Amino acid sequence: MDLMMTPGPVQVPEEVRMARSLTTPNSDLDPGFFDFYHDLTKRISRLLHTNNETLILSGEGILGLEAACASLTEPGDMVLVLDNGIYGKGFQDFVRMYGGIPDLYSSDPLRSIDSRELKRYLQEHHNYKYATLVHCDTPSGMLNDIHTICPILKSFGILTVVDSVSGMFGNPVDVDRAKIDVLLGGSQKAVSAPPGLTLVTLSADAKKAMKERTSPIASFYGNLTVFDSYYENQWFPYTMPSSDIYGLDAAIRIIEHDPDFLSRHHRLAQAVRAALRRSGISLHLNSGFSDTVTVFDPPAGISAEQILTRMKDIHHVLLAGSFGELEGKVIRIGHMGANANLPDVLSVMTALEETFLHLGVSTAEGLADHFLHEVSTL
Ligand SMILES: *Cc1c(COP(=O)(O)O)cnc(C)c1O
Repeated sequence: MDLMMTPGPVQVPEEVRMARSLTTPNSDLDPGFFDFYHDLTKRISRLLHTNNETLILSGEGILGLEAACASLTEPGDMVLVLDNGIYGKGFQDFVRMYGGIPDLYSSDPLRSIDSRELKRYLQEHHNYKYATLVHCDTPSGMLNDIHTICPILKSFGILTVVDSVSGMFGNPVDVDRAKIDVLLGGSQKAVSAPPGLTLVTLSADAKKAMKERTSPIASFYGNLTVFDSYYENQWFPYTMPSSDIYGLDAAIRIIEHDPDFLSRHHRLAQAVRAALRRSGISLHLNSGFSDTVTVFDPPAGISAEQILTRMKDIHHVLLAGSFGELEGKVIRIGHMGANANLPDVLSVMTALEETFLHLGVSTAEGLADHFLHEVSTL
């Protein structure tokens, strides 16, 4: 088995895998299961620093992106789509699918979104029902400053939809401070459970916008209002994936009991970046470095494929390439969730050093030592 150091799915801890093997309840008839689900959603909200309601949906993270657009968009609605990465831009497809009119605000894909420039733009253009924004745009590793950008959007009366599938729990998320109306997460990134669940956190403003629609929501699975009063009525809109949710509970418990969780992500990510730079390897971005994934460009004359192949075949370390316009152009190290531990990240750096040297990149000599040195000084 390779050491899986990809930016999702990530390694799944044994406690999570074992929790998934518990006896299956009848989630529609067991009052204990309603309490269990409800309590878990409250714990997730607490980790995200909000009292806003969290829902756990049966479906991989993309379901959340689609459900947010399905539930908010009425035909003809103008939606601001903030784009400095592949997921950022991708929101326009969901907006269009549900009859909205996406307005793409594109900025340099190598820099995080400049909040002052955005503010100037909004002074002239702010007739939007909601805006979409990606916290960590995983294909490039781009981290956007949601805590600055979302309050600006809200000050113009624009609802905020944030995809933090690969950001949350690895990078700080404070839903209330950021004024996020719809926050989207998934089970297979920093949470470190298998793929299969979407997390959605909804503000009162978001719920109000969904209630006040004049046209019906053109979806059932993507309709976030079907969960209304599920706890009071003891009725889920569909049978819950109980094994997935038991696994999620165990994964969330690991995060709750690890006060160093966020700071360790930051320390390891900083050390990975510093060590790569010291070894003459170019990080892909100019700014906006996520603590969950590091993306670098292959050194001149070497292909991403050569690096990935040697890492896997000789060192049994699985890193990721990327997709879309970045396909074949960059390498991604996923150091989030269960992957964010010193031994595994050190294994990546040691294997990368050998791989670079083997491929003729002499500046890589000492990469692993640089990493260890950086970690110890942070
Ligand atoms: C992983 C991820 C998703 C979920 O989609 P996948 O099908 O797993 O690619 C959505 N948004 C972001 C930013 C992600 O990293």
